[in-house]
Amino acid sequence: MENNYTDMPVEEFRESGKKLIDWVADYLNEIEKYPPLSQVKPGEILKRIPENPPLKGEEIQKILNDVDKILIDGITHWNHPGFMAYFNSTSSGPGILAELLSAAINANGMLWKTSPAFTELEKAMMNWFRQMVGLPENYWGIIYDTASTSSMHAIASAREQLNLNIREKGMSGRTDLPKLRLYCSEHAHSSIEKGALTLGIGLDGVKKISVNEKYEMNSEELEEAIKSDISNNIKPFCVVATVGTTSTTSIDPVRKISEICNKYNLWLHIDAAYAGVTAMIPEMQRITDAWDEADSIVINPHKWMFTPMDLSIYFTRKPEILKRAFSLVPEYLKTQVDDEVENLMDYGIQLGRRFRSLKLWFIIRYFGVEGLATRIKHHIELAKEFANWIDEEKDFERMAPVPFSTVCFRFNPGNKSDEDLNQMNEKLLEEINSSGKIFLSHTKLNGKFVIRLTIGSIRHERRHIVEAWGLIKSLAEKIVL
Ligand SMILES: *Cc1c(COP(=O)(O)O)cnc(C)c1O
Repeated sequence: MENNYTDMPVEEFRESGKKLIDWVADYLNEIEKYPPLSQVKPGEILKRIPENPPLKGEEIQKILNDVDKILIDGITHWNHPGFMAYFNSTSSGPGILAELLSAAINANGMLWKTSPAFTELEKAMMNWFRQMVGLPENYWGIIYDTASTSSMHAIASAREQLNLNIREKGMSGRTDLPKLRLYCSEHAHSSIEKGALTLGIGLDGVKKISVNEKYEMNSEELEEAIKSDISNNIKPFCVVATVGTTSTTSIDPVRKISEICNKYNLWLHIDAAYAGVTAMIPEMQRITDAWDEADSIVINPHKWMFTPMDLSIYFTRKPEILKRAFSLVPEYLKTQVDDEVENLMDYGIQLGRRFRSLKLWFIIRYFGVEGLATRIKHHIELAKEFANWIDEEKDFERMAPVPFSTVCFRFNPGNKSDEDLNQMNEKLLEEINSSGKIFLSHTKLNGKFVIRLTIGSIRHERRHIVEAWGLIKSLAEKIVL
């Protein structure tokens, strides 16, 4: 590569591409030989990487070899079927191929003109996905990177709808602005508060509403909080209802919340980042009750629809407000077709955007809507089965209802204080995760340490759940304080 001004020669690309695809195929096929949770210590990988960049180019084969030599034991394998932590995000064959194609085409969809097929495929995929989850035609969709970004745009739209001229004048130093308040349950995802802090609403501008025994938002308390704020000259502007909360996957009472939003003229945003895809399953459509009342909804195919990171879908009935909040067109970005087309840069903070809709196009077509729904439904059934095992085992306790595919439980051999049980379960989780077989995560519910198991990997089969349960039970037997 001495004195060479060109890219990698095409034959070398072809050859190394084939090798990489072989690597990927073997990796996915043999993934169970790795521990799902990386067991390295902080700094261990960094030590293996030269401190200075190479001055001369290196062989591609050497770089590929170093994936195995340097990185692989520092990888936590999200595609491993033993990965049952958080909400697992897994990639599928068609998703991986689409990601490769996206990098090859490298189109930037900031304007319609900068790749007409980009804008129009995204529009078509938003229309497909809207139908798949049963939303009416008046919902307009766009792809962002993550649910955090989607929800931030929802909160920005809610703020724009107030007509407080914040776009022009900002918020600081103004005496003519009321204090703004957003409401969500105490189980809402932290991204809602991050959106609020990004937008100058502040953490103090977020009111957390308590939940009932099923971890669903208390709608009476929501209305009380709104009334109390109004009487104190605080301006309510947005409510976030969660369908599938992060700790327990509980479902806020969206219909009741929507009635309150209508009564007080508040923006209703639904965070269905994890659970939204289940609306594809006919038996699960009840979870979409009153969704057509929402101003906006976020669903993440990168969580439970086998889509490689990242791809979050944001639907809104009011794209014109989103555009009003964010459109800013400098001379160099004007085009002659601006009146006829949608330029995606007008609908958010980012200018450049990756060709993510290719992933939906490949995945939805390859599996079909039925194929996707069948897989997701299988995960829900496996979770119900696992929950039954917990219920039937006297030394274990289920800690929350299981509306989707996440089971919250703890080891409880009886005659122990909550404090002791917390310690025992923390220890149990550590044992489970250092076993190298499965990876689970935890949460705290009413001060109780709870272990969480999530099923949602495209590689999850019943045997993985059976093995996980066997392992959990055998490790629990050995736990002593
Ligand atoms: C995962 C999750 C988020 C955050 O998703 P990102 O795409 O990582 O930003 C937000 N809300 C809920 C309910 C989630 O489950």
